[in-house]
Amino acid sequence: MKHVILLLAFLGLMIKGKAQHPPIFEGLRIDSTNFSLYDLPISLVKYTFREPNINFLCIHDDEDTGVKAAFEYIKFSGGSIIDCQYGGARNFLFYYNEEEFQTDPNSIYSNTGIIKGLEKYGRADREVVKNLKELSNTILKKYSEKDPAYFFTLHNNADGGFGISSYLQGYELESYADSLHINFQMDNDDLVIVTDLALFNRLKLDNINVVLQSVDAPDDGTLSVYSMKKNIPYINVEVQHGHFDENLRLIKIATKALLETYPNIKHTSTQ
Ligand SMILES: [Zn+2]
Repeated sequence: MKHVILLLAFLGLMIKGKAQHPPIFEGLRIDSTNFSLYDLPISLVKYTFREPNINFLCIHDDEDTGVKAAFEYIKFSGGSIIDCQYGGARNFLFYYNEEEFQTDPNSIYSNTGIIKGLEKYGRADREVVKNLKELSNTILKKYSEKDPAYFFTLHNNADGGFGISSYLQGYELESYADSLHINFQMDNDDLVIVTDLALFNRLKLDNINVVLQSVDAPDDGTLSVYSMKKNIPYINVEVQHGHFDENLRLIKIATKALLETYPNIKHTSTQ
């Protein structure tokens, strides 16, 4: 019986290890901030390795490939990752006053977005809106104590559905894009999204799938729209789940582009 319990405990650890993606290696510094979204505990875990370099932000807890690729990147180049952990799901799902609420974590960076995000799954409650606003401020502060010089986010998507072609004329995200550069040799699901023309032009030279977000993109509370409003250069490296090598390749290309376009960033990435 004891062996069975031990085995179960071990399996439990393995399953937990899988959900809580980070491969821990020697010298990695870990610093967590905890936030209670009512009954949903959220951990903002910052992993730092060696010299400060790029700071990555992973918003969706069910998107592992980006986190793994970022770990591989910082293992060789130094840097940090902020990983939002809340049970391995995509959405925040929680109860307030015995009522269920749900929203996409990438819709909490404006009041309009918070309300729209909650209403997609139910109702927006004033108290809940306030609490989500506080959570977004906590995440932003965790990313950078001062006004950030940039945002570098990592997302993963499913095969088919959303991809660079979603931004083409006549497709669902047409109004979000100002310009596109498509490399038809690449998978449609692997792309980089930026909010600033200098970065867009620089990334075009690397012949990768890249989208320049439109200044008229609807306010959906995403961090990209927030960044655009605040004039903060924003990069999202977004690849299909499991495309680890491509994820790492695009992280390297985007990091190089960011540092070449904004050389001062290296000195501001120390928080
Ligand atoms: Zn995502």
